[in-house]
Amino acid sequence: MNNFEFQNPTQLLFGKGQIAKLKEVIPASSKVLVAYGGGSIKHNGVYDQVMAALNGYEVVEFSGIEANPQYATLMKAVEIIKEKAIDFILAVGGGSVIDGVKFISAAVPFEGEPWDILEKNLGKSLKSAVPFGTVLTLPATGSEMNSGSVISRSEIKEKRAFGGPLIFPKFSILDPEVVASLPSRQIANGVIDAFTHVMEQYITYPAGAFLQDRFAEGILQTLVQVGPKVMADPKDYESASNFMWCATMALNGILRLGVPTDWATHMIGHELTALYGIDHARTLAIIAPNLYRSLLSDKQEKLAQYGERVWGINEGSQEERALAAIDKTVEFFHLMEIQTNLSDYTDDYQDTASIIVERFEERGWKKLGEKGAVTPEKVAEIVENSY
Ligand code: NAP
Ligand code: FE
Repeated sequence: MNNFEFQNPTQLLFGKGQIAKLKEVIPASSKVLVAYGGGSIKHNGVYDQVMAALNGYEVVEFSGIEANPQYATLMKAVEIIKEKAIDFILAVGGGSVIDGVKFISAAVPFEGEPWDILEKNLGKSLKSAVPFGTVLTLPATGSEMNSGSVISRSEIKEKRAFGGPLIFPKFSILDPEVVASLPSRQIANGVIDAFTHVMEQYITYPAGAFLQDRFAEGILQTLVQVGPKVMADPKDYESASNFMWCATMALNGILRLGVPTDWATHMIGHELTALYGIDHARTLAIIAPNLYRSLLSDKQEKLAQYGERVWGINEGSQEERALAAIDKTVEFFHLMEIQTNLSDYTDDYQDTASIIVERFEERGWKKLGEKGAVTPEKVAEIVENSY
C-alpha cells in the first residue's frame, strides 16, 4: 500500500427530513445566496423545504446554473455576491450546481482573472473562498463531499477542472427522497458516473491495498444491485438511499488512499462534453471500455480480479477473464440504457480523435493514467475505437 494523508472536513446529514436542519449548520447571522439550476427543485418540493428551513435568514436567490455549469453564468453570481456582501452560499442541486458554487466560492475573493483558476489549475494555491454548503438533489458526482469542480466555457468549447482544500463543502444534506423525481436519464447517468469514479481508482495495477479493493468492489456490487431497481422505481427508498450513499463514497477521497489512480477516462470524456454536449456519464461509458482494452496489459490483473469478484467470472486465462469483465461492464451500461459508441450521440465524430490529441498536446498532457501510459497515440486509439 502507498503512503497517504487524509482529511475530509465535510459534515454529512443523511436521510429523510434532514433539509429541515439547515439552521443548525448555516451560521446564524449569514446572508445566504441560494444557488440552483433550471427549476427541478420547484417541482419536487425541495425548494419549499429549503426556503422553510431558511426562515429568518436574509436570502438572495440565484437560479439558472445549467448542466455542465457555464463560466459566464457563474461570473454573474460572483458579481451579485460582491455587490450584496453575501457571506454564505447554499448549492441546491446536482453536480453542476455544486461544482458551479465551488467555482463561485473561489472566484469571489480571487485577485486576478478567474478563468486562470481553471486554465492554470490554481485551486491548491487559493488563499480564501466563500464558505458554502449543499443540498444534493442528484446522486452521481460525489461533489457534495469532495473538493473538485468542473466548469465549462462554451464560447471556446472548453471544460476544465480545478480543486483544492478550501473548496470542500462545509456540510452536505443528502435526503434520498429527492431521487423520486429524477428522470431515468439522470438516474442512469448518476449510477454510471459513480461506477466509473470507482473504476478510475480501482482498475489500475495492484498496490497491495486489500481493503481499498474491497471498498471499491463493495460499491460496484451495490451499484449493480440497486441501479436497475432505482431505474424501475425511483420511489423505492431503500434502493435510492443505497444509490445515494454509493455515489458519495465513490468520490469522497477514501477510495484513492494508498492506491494509484487513473482519471484518463474523465479527462478524455470532458472533451466529448466540451465538443458535443454529451452528458458527462455517457462520455465515460463511451471511453472507459475502450481505454481498458487499449491498456489491457497494464490493467489486466485488476480487471480479472474485478471480473471475478463483481461479476463472478472464474473461467479462462487472466486475459480472457479481463476481457470478459470489460464485456460485462458494457452490458451493464446497456442495461442502464446508456449507449457506448460516440456515433450513437453525434454524426460529426470523424475528426474527434485528432481534435482531442491536439488539445491535449497544447496543454502538455502527454502521459495520463496511473503509469503515464495514456500517450497521445493511445488517446487517438481509444477515441477512434469508440466511434
Ligand atoms: P447535473 O448536471 O447537476 O443535473 C442534470 C439534470 O438533472 C439537470 O437538468 C437538473 O435539473 C436535473 N435534476 C437534478 N436533480 C433533480 C431531481 N431531484 N429531480 C429532477 N431533476 C433533477 O447532473 P450531475 O450528473 O449531478 O452533474 C454533472 C456535472 O458534474 C458535470 O459537469 C460533470 O463534469 C461534473 N462532475 C463533477 C465531479 C466532481 O467531483 N466535482 C465528478 C464528476 C462529474 P435542474 O437544473 O432543473 O435542477
Ligand atoms: Fe465523473
